[in-house]
Amino acid sequence: KEVVSKNFIEQEIDKDLAEGVYNHVQTRFPPEPNGYLHIGHAKSILLNYGLAQKYGGKFNLRFDDTNPTKEKTEFVESIMADVKWLGADFEDRLFFASNYFQQMYECAVLLIKKGKAFVCDLTADQIREYRGDFTTPGKESPYRNRSIEENLKLFEEMKEGKYQDGEKVLRAKIDMASPNINMRDPVIYRVAHMTHHNTGDAWCIYPMYDFAHPIEDAIEHITHSICTLEFEDHRPLYDWVVRECEFENPPRQIEFAKLYLTNVITGKRYIKKLVEDGIVDGWDDPRLVSIAALRRRGYTPEAIRKFVDLVGVSKANSSVDYAMLEYCIREDLKLKKARMMAILDPVKLVIDNYPEGQTEMLEVPNNLENPELGSRMVPFGRELYIEREDFMEEPPRKYFRLFPGNEVRLMSAYFVTCTGFEKDENGNVTVVHATYDPATKSGSGFCERKVKGTIHWVAAETAKQVEVRLYENIVDEEKGKLNEDGSLNLNPNSLTILKNCYVEPALAEAKAYDSFQFVRNGFFCADCKDSKPGEPVFNRIVSLKSSFKI
Ligand code: ATP
Ligand code: MG
Ligand code: MG
Repeated sequence: KEVVSKNFIEQEIDKDLAEGVYNHVQTRFPPEPNGYLHIGHAKSILLNYGLAQKYGGKFNLRFDDTNPTKEKTEFVESIMADVKWLGADFEDRLFFASNYFQQMYECAVLLIKKGKAFVCDLTADQIREYRGDFTTPGKESPYRNRSIEENLKLFEEMKEGKYQDGEKVLRAKIDMASPNINMRDPVIYRVAHMTHHNTGDAWCIYPMYDFAHPIEDAIEHITHSICTLEFEDHRPLYDWVVRECEFENPPRQIEFAKLYLTNVITGKRYIKKLVEDGIVDGWDDPRLVSIAALRRRGYTPEAIRKFVDLVGVSKANSSVDYAMLEYCIREDLKLKKARMMAILDPVKLVIDNYPEGQTEMLEVPNNLENPELGSRMVPFGRELYIEREDFMEEPPRKYFRLFPGNEVRLMSAYFVTCTGFEKDENGNVTVVHATYDPATKSGSGFCERKVKGTIHWVAAETAKQVEVRLYENIVDEEKGKLNEDGSLNLNPNSLTILKNCYVEPALAEAKAYDSFQFVRNGFFCADCKDSKPGEPVFNRIVSLKSSFKI
């Protein structure tokens, strides 16, 4: 379905192009390499990439790596992989903000020379105190009226390493009485004697985000610098920086609402704790919504794109139901994947009149809704595994599966009639007995009688025993995500490990990230961490049914 209406960002861009403010569109995604990307970042990536595509412009991946304290090369690698995987092709347009340190420094010097920046000796606490708040105007720093010459000398000395961290900062000289706190002489450079992941020890002064970011955008000739809502009241400062630093055809900032999902954890602090406590097995645990976790769970870039499109772009914060993400992966996979037979909670079914030692290969269609996927041959024999829930000793009304005396269809095989069962000393059913009718073979055109139930199966002799993992949301919004003490209120059933599942032999060959529909049980993906050759472990991506409607 083609979406014809334009979102508010596209309307702004149209206006800018019509009025000649810009003659092209250039966007960027500017992650700080201090963690893994999550579903929220995917929205920003696909939004920026999509705009560049729509307007025939370019899309940059730029690492906003101006803060040496938190950044790591490990994250640079993972972010690049994730952006590529999402399909946002940045080609050779990969940039590092830290490569602009010299230009940022020169911008700072220019501001000093224009009397628009000064070196301040107040401590961080004093600066905060002087700044005031929404109810009180700020107080000017006693260092505000230093001469240009003194400021140039002191800033040079900051750069040369003469001062300790925090001893001096460079501040923009704007307006301590501004109703916008961000404009009250913000700090634009600080001293930090730290080794940077890219520039090493070349610098001991680093630019602050609000100063660095507009300059990065301007250097790359970004036209529309799209960011999230919390930066809305930083926009006057953004505009001030690009204007006072005298960039031609400067970029403009446009804000949109962050994407929030219900029933998930995205906060770095919380995820770190879950990893440390061993509750999840890393940042890519399939219950998380980092891009790596979604990929491991079996989500596809197509499903994530569909999701982001459905959510749309808005100026108001809101949360999106996790079920909508599930809807998108279900929709993406349902016609693409083969429907395989896998038994998650097995009980034996013995067909007593089927010749002992005999096996046969039966043709099974891969996807009834998509004949293009063809069919495959599946071994059948005298002893099968079926789902425990597909047999009942005493069935309730409207139960059409196996119970003594009832006949059902074994999917793509034969009709079987239940003749009895065996139990262990605890009363658990261990074996179900049946007889089959050779005349009812699937595809033979048999139509003398009908049965109401169809169940799936795997042949015991050739079945592959595998581990399967089922997931539930790790938190539940309705029960409260947090406990009173601020800790996470975790769902104790978020992970179920089933060690005794049987799948048809073809599934033994599944490789990492291969995904399938398991008849009646959902969509599953071979785990990329724990599968071994010939020994796949399957994660449930999503079950087949949901009450979610769109
Ligand atoms: P932090 O500073 O803690 O890393 P962050 O992950 O939000 O927070 P960045 O790594 O700088 O910060 O994010 C890169 C880009 O992704 C930014 O443009 C940011 O606005 C955007 N972004 C981050 N979270 C979301 C979200 N939930 N929805 C949409 N965009 C987001
Ligand atoms: Mg980040
Ligand atoms: Mg950030």
